Amino acid sequence: MKMSKLFAQTLRDFPSDAEVMSHKLLVRAGYIRRLASGIYNYLPLMWRTLKKIENIVREEMDAAGAQELLMPFVQPEELWQESGRWDVYGKELMRLKDRQGRGMCLGPTHEEVITYIAREGIQSYKQLPINLYQIQSKFRDEVRPRFGLLRGREFIMKDAYSFDLNEAGLDKEYENMAQTYTRIFKRCGLETKMVQSDSGAIGGSISHEFMVICDNENNAGENDVFYCEHCNYSANSNHAVSILPQTTTESKYTKPEIIDTPNCKTIEDLAAFLNISPAMIVKSLVYVADKKYVIALVRGDKAVEEIKLQNAVGANEIRIASAAEIKEIMINNGKNGEAGYISPIGLKDITIIADKSVVELKNFIIGCNETGKHLVGANWGSEIELPQKIEDIRLVQEGEICIQCKAPLKVTRGIEVGNIFKLGTKYSKAMNAVYTDENGKEKPFIMGCYGIGISRTAAAAVERHHDEFGIKLPLAIAPYHAIIIPVNSKDQLQMSTAEELYKKLLNAGIEVVLDDRDERPGVKFKDADLIGFPFRITAGKALTDGFVELKTRENGETINLKPEEAIKKIINAVKAIK
Ligand code: ATP
Ligand code: MG
Repeated sequence: MKMSKLFAQTLRDFPSDAEVMSHKLLVRAGYIRRLASGIYNYLPLMWRTLKKIENIVREEMDAAGAQELLMPFVQPEELWQESGRWDVYGKELMRLKDRQGRGMCLGPTHEEVITYIAREGIQSYKQLPINLYQIQSKFRDEVRPRFGLLRGREFIMKDAYSFDLNEAGLDKEYENMAQTYTRIFKRCGLETKMVQSDSGAIGGSISHEFMVICDNENNAGENDVFYCEHCNYSANSNHAVSILPQTTTESKYTKPEIIDTPNCKTIEDLAAFLNISPAMIVKSLVYVADKKYVIALVRGDKAVEEIKLQNAVGANEIRIASAAEIKEIMINNGKNGEAGYISPIGLKDITIIADKSVVELKNFIIGCNETGKHLVGANWGSEIELPQKIEDIRLVQEGEICIQCKAPLKVTRGIEVGNIFKLGTKYSKAMNAVYTDENGKEKPFIMGCYGIGISRTAAAAVERHHDEFGIKLPLAIAPYHAIIIPVNSKDQLQMSTAEELYKKLLNAGIEVVLDDRDERPGVKFKDADLIGFPFRITAGKALTDGFVELKTRENGETINLKPEEAIKKIINAVKAIK
């Protein structure tokens, strides 16, 4: 490829709407162009990188025994009615009608379609186990599309689905996929951490996420990951558990009493006013879970983990209640408390769920549904009923204790690039997808599903591999392997050597660009750094002594070499990644 022909318009400045480095750099280096919110054109540079990631994924999935197919992007409503997800998937599902008025949707994921395929095509246990996958664009009408390719509305995903006879088969395939994922990301030049996670809208019981650790100031890593340095424990905050360090669980108030607590709407204010630890206060938070009110109780020094709460109450959607909604609850119960003074005491028809840690408190402090007053010295079973639902709904904090080895937990942030789930029979039962076993009995398939965000992986790689000059994608997934820059386009020797090296590299199967433009050297070097060619050969003044310069983008190392040696280095490096 000649640079003069390469369709990549590098920009002088970062786009003004971009917050994270991968978004800024991919636009500025001419890899992507925005079409609408969360919808991007993958320009030639990006497309080369995406195809490379896809091919690594293909090679590893095929080697792991999976088979590739391609399912339609548009899916019929009927299948989603069968699985029961049409009504619960929410607004992320882009729904449309065809000219006959039939309900359709843009595929956000393909459990329904693959279960239909298995139901139609697999009759006998002899056809199992099987793992089918595809690589395709998905559409999710995300609430907050942002960060460029990291959270798009349209994005490319590899999704695989396994069908097994029994749990043991699923366990084996899950492990097979976990190992395959580790290999895939390693080949992409990305280090990942496999963490336990919540299984979310897809359902099922066990799931793990593959995180690219990205703990920078822009929060491109959207997930908090808790991990233990002393053992292998690591989990997404939506799933992490811990042991709380020992603290006193009994307050100084030995008698129950309602006292005045003016202007104490926050836990901090109340704790300061009473001169007690926030851990002695029971915090009552009002949520709306699928249109029903729920009060969640946590210790004052802790926070609610909303996904855990959502799972504990079995809701599809959850959000914190507004001041108006709290007022409505108060009015219906003949009370006048506002946020900061709420508690379950005396409230009717409302689900109360307590975090395990509040159950241990004695003589604690809690609201009493009256503004400006709190109940102190309260105890479960006397002033206040012990809630029927007691679950772990607490957000873990750094420094709490690892449940596996008792060391203090640490926290970091990660970008989720892949996800593996044990689905079990959730979809096969709902959609009556069965096979006949050895004894002629019908059994539902035991399923697993396994996703990789192809476009997100590319963006995550840029988050991890860049500097102030531009992109530094690893050799395995960079759009091109090398660029050749003749410093002075008027210099005969430089131009002819550059041409010659270009041909030799092409012949050796190296993906190389020749910068044939009549530009100042500074412009050419800047573009080369911005786009991020892993190797740069510069044909400049040293040529009169028989040398070219070889620069490695990753570490900035530059050395003068004989042209043949420079070529050999590049060819060997490319061989090593294949
Ligand atoms: P998230 O929690 O980040 O929304 P998810 O759990 O909904 O992700 P899955 O349904 O497991 O994602 O999809 C599989 C993979 O697809 C994810 O691991 C991620 O890499 C990718 N992915 C999901 N949503 C997006 C998106 N909006 N933009 C880009 N990639 C995405
Ligand atoms: Mg999502």
